[in-house]
Amino acid sequence: MANENEVDVVVVGLGPGGESLATQLAKGGLSVLGVDRRLVGGECPYYGCIPSKMMIRAADVLAEGRRIPDFAGQSTVTPDWKPVHARIRDEATTDWDDATAVKRLEEAGVRFVRGPARLIGSRQVEVSPSTGSGHRATTYSARTGVVLNTGTEPAVPPIDGLAGTPYWTNRDACRLEELPGSLIVIGGGAIGAELAQAFSRFGVQVTVLEVAPRILAPEEPEASKLVADVFGEEGIQVLAGVTIESVRYDEGQFAVAVGEQTLHADKLLVSAGRRPNLGDLGLDTVGLDPAARSVDVDTRLRATGADGLWAIGDITGKGAFTHMSMYQAAIAARDILGQDGPEASYHAVPRVTFTDPEVGSVGMTEKQARDAGLSVRVGTTDLASSTRGWIAKATGLIKLVEDADRGVLVGATVIGPSGGEILSMLTTGVHAQVPTDTLRSMIYAYPTFHRAVESALADLG
Ligand SMILES: Cc1cc2nc3c(=O)[nH]c(=O)nc-3n(C[C@H](O)[C@H](O)[C@H](O)COP(=O)(O)OP(=O)(O)OC[C@H]3O[C@@H](n4cnc5c(N)ncnc54)[C@H](O)[C@@H]3O)c2cc1C
Repeated sequence: MANENEVDVVVVGLGPGGESLATQLAKGGLSVLGVDRRLVGGECPYYGCIPSKMMIRAADVLAEGRRIPDFAGQSTVTPDWKPVHARIRDEATTDWDDATAVKRLEEAGVRFVRGPARLIGSRQVEVSPSTGSGHRATTYSARTGVVLNTGTEPAVPPIDGLAGTPYWTNRDACRLEELPGSLIVIGGGAIGAELAQAFSRFGVQVTVLEVAPRILAPEEPEASKLVADVFGEEGIQVLAGVTIESVRYDEGQFAVAVGEQTLHADKLLVSAGRRPNLGDLGLDTVGLDPAARSVDVDTRLRATGADGLWAIGDITGKGAFTHMSMYQAAIAARDILGQDGPEASYHAVPRVTFTDPEVGSVGMTEKQARDAGLSVRVGTTDLASSTRGWIAKATGLIKLVEDADRGVLVGATVIGPSGGEILSMLTTGVHAQVPTDTLRSMIYAYPTFHRAVESALADLG
């Protein structure tokens, strides 16, 4: 008799990649068990990309309304958070319920179990019952193997006093029904910067604290400066290069000691990076280091040093983006199904910070290219001086990084309206290693924002 707890593949963690991979494998004819201890779909639809972009869309509409006097008469803008919360609750997350996602998964042929899972040896997974179910842990074996897609949790820095306070993470921010009067944001990376600007545009008094010398530290310095300047103009206080000494919470107020000064606010949002969900996964039972920050994978997403194990998504350390998780899912699915196809390559990873101005970038920064020993040429252009930028009264910049020896772009950054959309042609350039001479010989539609790429190419010399 067939053992019902023996399947072809067990997928542990159903973030965007795991959900997609499990579906592809089931449609490919394999028996698949998908396990998640929380919500099918992971961080992105419930607490990440989608709710945050709904907030940002609403905040951008407010900002556009406030710009009417620059272009077209008078405006009075009265922000109201209720429609934003209602849209996130009803349209994005169905009140943080994954029933639709579970149904979609099961209709595709995946068997779903909810609960925390851990490896207990090669191709063996133990799933504990989800809270309150009263069941004992169940062991599943996977004939082909196990795929890990366990993602990340918000990291909480070891600041004196912080742990005992009712601070928020992105998960609280995405569920907000009412806005506070004032907010301190610890961490000026992509998540902190996006949420800081969105809340500020709704009238919250926001201060961003960043320990690195600049916000958006992984991006080009020009991007950090432009965004920080706009934040300043919009009334967001940005303190970079600071040391956060302590956090206290008393009578409904946070007090954050930063160097010599103490800042006060109604609420505190911690967006200081992410912690991979690897510690409690039983990695040691398959010969891997449970204290590692990521799972080492090859170009087919097979975990290095463990047989019958694949890993995808944030835990691979190749870029914590939904598009990375989905990209890797497709490659791992092909590998498991024995299908041919391109292997993973990370030379043209695009990323977008959805601030206004939006920061889209791909590949290497200038510094990364120089550190890699390339013969670097840089071309920049001010978006405001392009015809479209001038018409729109836009703020922005395009920066290209060329490997001059090969005559191809290895990196690009677009800061400005729809920066992430303009980026697409440069992502093609970096991905396909299109010669910069070929990019120069193209026709760029007039008057578009992307036409500024032509000027940046000319600036390469
Ligand atoms: C506020 C915010 C905004 C973001 N915006 C963007 C954006 O605009 N664009 C973008 O590309 N990315 C964005 N991201 C990042 C994006 O959400 C992640 O990169 C994406 O969710 C992919 O993660 P993942 O597939 O690795 O897993 P996750 O989405 O983290 O999912 C992992 C799943 O594994 C489950 N799990 C963990 N451990 C276990 C276990 N032991 N047993 C069973 N289940 C387990 C979890 O419950 C979870 O459902 C944002 C993130 C945040 C926080």
